[in-house]
Order: sequence, then structure tokens, then C-alpha cells
Amino acid sequence: MDKTQELILKIMELSIDAIFIEDTSGNVIQCNHAAEKMFGYNEGEMIGLNISDLIPKDDSAYLKPTYKKEDLFENEYIPRKNIRKDGTVFPTEVNSKIVTVGDKEYLIAFVHDMTEENKIKERLFYLSNYDELTALRNRRAILSLLSTQKESFCLAMIDIDGFKKVNDTYGHMVGDLFLKSFGMILNDNDKIIAGRFGGEEFLVLISTSNLKYAKKVMNDILEKANKTLELYGGIHFSCGLTLVNDLRIDVAIQKSDKLLYQAKNNGKNQIVAE
Ligand code: GH3
Ligand code: MG
Ligand code: MG
Repeated sequence: MDKTQELILKIMELSIDAIFIEDTSGNVIQCNHAAEKMFGYNEGEMIGLNISDLIPKDDSAYLKPTYKKEDLFENEYIPRKNIRKDGTVFPTEVNSKIVTVGDKEYLIAFVHDMTEENKIKERLFYLSNYDELTALRNRRAILSLLSTQKESFCLAMIDIDGFKKVNDTYGHMVGDLFLKSFGMILNDNDKIIAGRFGGEEFLVLISTSNLKYAKKVMNDILEKANKTLELYGGIHFSCGLTLVNDLRIDVAIQKSDKLLYQAKNNGKNQIVAE
């Protein structure tokens, strides 16, 4: 090994990312220690493996028997899944290039383990779309979902009756638990998608154009909430329910809000649908 080769190998060892030198059929000729560590192999064990040994079988559609420059996205990291020696699958980003040395071509792959980044991305996605207390969609996410519906649907706006009294009687922490339990009831119902619109107000999407059926769904939720939360003297809510077909979403929300206040004025603990 001459000095330049030695230097190149040393540089490979400095990398945190896995680096593979392969022939154009994807057989590993050389790899760095980071590659062995990332994929769970002992020193030297990866030599002679093929790319197809390093990716899950279900993901193998993109593999080619031999690689040419035009098969690769040389200036991009491509999201992939890889498989460790022990069979566990993990997310990666891979950048592959073809290099020519003398009259031979080599496939060089740089593999970045995305496990930690993906966890952070998922957490950020959750924090920006979900309400921490109730685990329902937050205001922005539910409004965005409602405004991108292609089919007509029913929209309910819920406001819990006398919620201030729960806080005043049992304290704010118990009030929070109450909202959390109510959030679970809404989340557990697969006929609806609910979001927290504000304090103790919720928006509910019911995927039906049948207002009568939607009213039944909301009634069932009210009954379940009453049963589950009877510890706190039962729960009431008032609800405005409307069909959204040609309506703009902001107009539909105004309408369900108006119906909700009719429900409040009629004595609360009821659903007004129109
Ligand atoms: P109504 O029957 O007319 O709806 O009366 P209400 O007491 O439910 O409604 P009001 O709008 O007067 O009060 C809502 C209360 O909800 C006041 C506020 O302190 C409480 N609240 C809002 N967000 C939270 C929260 O995150 N946690 C707790 N514990 N309370 C909250
Ligand atoms: Mg309110
Ligand atoms: Mg209220």
C-alpha cells in the first residue's frame, strides 16, 4: 500500500458515515469501520457482501444487476432503508457515485444513519400538529385538514358546558385531566377526526354527508363522555353540527359556532344540527 492509499483509508476511517467501495455490481470491496459498526458486522465481514444483503427484501425493487452513472442521483442523498446483520431495519440516506480509476469503475456509497434525525423529525411533526394535553390535532392541524377535504362531510363544534366549575371545584390540574380524558374519548372514535380548537372547544370532522347519522355519532360521544367522566359529576357539552358541501371552511365554522350558541341558549347539553 503506498502512502496515498494509506491516507485515503485513514480519511475513510475518520468518517462518521458509512463509506463503501463496491464494484459496479454492488459487491463490497472495501468499507470503513463506521460501516461495520452501523450494520453490526465484525471487522472484514462485510467484504464480498452485495448491496442486496444490506437492504430489506421488500425494498429491493430499485436494485440493478450493474450500476451506471445514469442510474444514480449523484448529488442527492436518497432516503432508504437498510438492514443490519441481526435483521433489524433502520432508516438511512444514501448518496452513491461512480468513479473511474484506470480502466475500472467503482461504485462509492456514503450512508448516513437517519434513526436519530427521524426521531427528532417525528417529534417536531407531533409538536407542530398535535395538542400536548389532549393528544388531539391542534388548531392549525385540524383547520388545515378541514380545508383540504375533497368530499362533503359534517362539522361539529363542541364546547364543554360549565367547565369553569370543574376548575373551580377540583382545581386546574384536575381540569386538565378532565380535558385529557375527553381527548381520549374523541381520539378513540374511528368515525371522527377531532382537534382542539381552543380551551374547552373542539372541532370534529365526521366523514359523512348524512347529518342525521352525524348527530347520532355525536350523541354516542356525549353518552360515552357522560359515562366515562361521571367521576366529575358527568359531563355535558353543547354542539353545533352542520353539513359542509359547497361551504367555504371559514363559513362552515361560523355556522357551526352559531348553532353551538343556539344549543347554549336552549339550555346546553344538546346538539343543534342544521
Ligand atoms: P359554558 O357552559 O357557557 O361553556 O361555560 P364554561 O364554564 O364551560 O365556559 P367558559 O368559556 O366560561 O370557561 C371555559 C373555561 O375553560 C375557562 C378556562 O379556565 C378553562 N380552560 C381553558 N383551557 C383550559 C386548560 O387547558 N386547562 C384547564 N384546566 N382549564 C382550561
Ligand atoms: Mg368555551
Ligand atoms: Mg364551556
